[in-house]
Amino acid sequence: MAQRLPQTWIARFALAVLLSGLYFASLTVWQQMVKDQQKSIAERVDFQARDLARRLQSSLHDQVDDLHRIAQLWNHRGRIPQDEWLLESQFCLDHFKAYQSIQWLGPDLHMRWLVPTTGNEAALDFVLKPDHPNYPLALRARDTGTAQFSNSFALVQGGRGFVLYTPLYIKNGQGQRVFDGFIQGVFKVEQLMDQLLSEVDRDYFSAYLMENGKPIYSREQPSTEAGFEQVIALHLLNNRNFSIILKPSQKLLDELRSPLPTFVLSASLIISTLLVAALALVLQSHQRATDLQRINRRLNREISQREHIENVLIESRERLQLVIDLTDSSTDGLFIVNPHSREILYMNHATYRSLGYDAQLFSQLFKDNPDSLLPGYENWLGEVRKSLGGNVSQHQLLRRDGSTQPAEISAQLVVINDHEYLICVSRDNSERLKFEAQLQTLSQQDGLTGLFNRRYFDSQLASEWRRLQRTGAPLTLMMLDIDYFKAYNDQRGHLAGDDALRKVAEIMQDCLQREGDSACRYGGEEFAIILANTNAEGASHIAAQLHQKLDEARIKHLRSPFGRLTLSIGIASISADDEDLPDSLIERSDKALYQAKRDGRNRTCIASTAD
Ligand code: GH3
Ligand code: MG
Ligand code: MG
Repeated sequence: MAQRLPQTWIARFALAVLLSGLYFASLTVWQQMVKDQQKSIAERVDFQARDLARRLQSSLHDQVDDLHRIAQLWNHRGRIPQDEWLLESQFCLDHFKAYQSIQWLGPDLHMRWLVPTTGNEAALDFVLKPDHPNYPLALRARDTGTAQFSNSFALVQGGRGFVLYTPLYIKNGQGQRVFDGFIQGVFKVEQLMDQLLSEVDRDYFSAYLMENGKPIYSREQPSTEAGFEQVIALHLLNNRNFSIILKPSQKLLDELRSPLPTFVLSASLIISTLLVAALALVLQSHQRATDLQRINRRLNREISQREHIENVLIESRERLQLVIDLTDSSTDGLFIVNPHSREILYMNHATYRSLGYDAQLFSQLFKDNPDSLLPGYENWLGEVRKSLGGNVSQHQLLRRDGSTQPAEISAQLVVINDHEYLICVSRDNSERLKFEAQLQTLSQQDGLTGLFNRRYFDSQLASEWRRLQRTGAPLTLMMLDIDYFKAYNDQRGHLAGDDALRKVAEIMQDCLQREGDSACRYGGEEFAIILANTNAEGASHIAAQLHQKLDEARIKHLRSPFGRLTLSIGIASISADDEDLPDSLIERSDKALYQAKRDGRNRTCIASTAD
């Protein structure tokens, strides 16, 4: 782009230069044509003016010759008769219409003969006196013997005119040549000029006869322009005071001026403009084509980039979909929250379905009242904020039906581009807890009878003993042993012995109704019952009940003196005041049991505190 701009301007500048050059050439051609035209007008005027001058001069010379011929006749033959003179003069008058008159002025310079008389009556008595402007000229003609042409002067007949003085001579008696006056040709200015200009095209020129720079005759035609006039000096015999000025008329100018230069100028200006405009259009279309190509290339690049991006996007979307499918297939709840607005940005199906909600309701509830889903939300969020490497905590999530769902939530606060995101994984751990509880139970249970095992007995007794220390409530331990059980096994078999053990355990469970009472298999066919908050008296009631229920069970034992399965029970109690340890309680109840055996079995003995 940066390169294209100067190129454009260079091209535009070149076009401007070309246009200026073409205009300049057009103007030059036009100027030359106009000059040629003006030159031809000037030549025409010049030619016409010179022709006019030449004819004026030659006409005058013709008249001089005519009059000179009469003078020759006069000089040779002497004064010729008037009739002959008239005849000769009339010949001249007929030959040249511009004559005002032809006359003989006698040697005394008085008018003698004059033809024609009509129109020249005023001149019949004319005398050339020294005060006449032509007087010196006439004397010069007399003295030199050559014809002289006068300046213009006021004619006695009226108007201005010229006179051509041709001197006449005769021989006197002594044979001397004597001046005999002048034969004069008189011309009126207007007549002479009209006669001469009659052969010139009147309409085409304005003509002026100048005498010493002053116009004495003019014939004007309308003209708007100056500058073409031609001034030609006239040599009228001796007289150099005259000149002719010729100006072309407007008509001649119009005829000589062709519209061609203007037409050529207009045409060449138009053609130049059109040519440059066409070039500009070509340039513009070339630039447009170049621009279009550039735009096309850029578009193609953008399209391929976009296609690439779209492919990447499709790929990313597919991967994202896979991730979403993966997360949706997860039984763990996965969700991302904006911690400020509590807006859920993403969550998988498990997040809301496990609590019985649809996605929309869950999102809305989380935003409006997160405690209704995750009690203690704000505290938990505070904990998550404090923990740097992520936080794992146990929660009781609230289901839509009001029940709770134990959950372990792993959460981490991440910051991306100054935005905080709370990434959480919620795992329903009710099964695990149940399993753990089962494990716990199993680890505490006796496999055969389902009662608590010896390990549980030890920890429970220690625990109850500590509680006793705190509360001061009484604690009683019962030790039980099946009578003659070896013989039972021997007679009925070991499996029947196991059944009998299970039956006894059932009866023991039946007799224990209070929470905190724990029946345990102490070992072999021996059992122990921990009775919290129970004294020896209470325990003896339970023992009696046991004896009775076992009696009612009627488990045959043929090798027993009682004919049925019986129990011996030893009871020992302690209170808060006693300083006994759990082991001594076992020992005392064991002794009481031994006493019951010794006393004949199928009975209960209570250990006294003194034992
Ligand atoms: P006494 O009246 O003095 O208690 O005589 P007794 O035979 O019951 O006592 P002894 O200690 O001599 O015998 C206990 C018997 O209990 C031995 C053993 O065969 C039996 N026994 C111990 N544990 C089990 C058991 O898990 N299953 C079965 N079937 N028998 C057991
Ligand atoms: Mg025993
Ligand atoms: Mg026994």
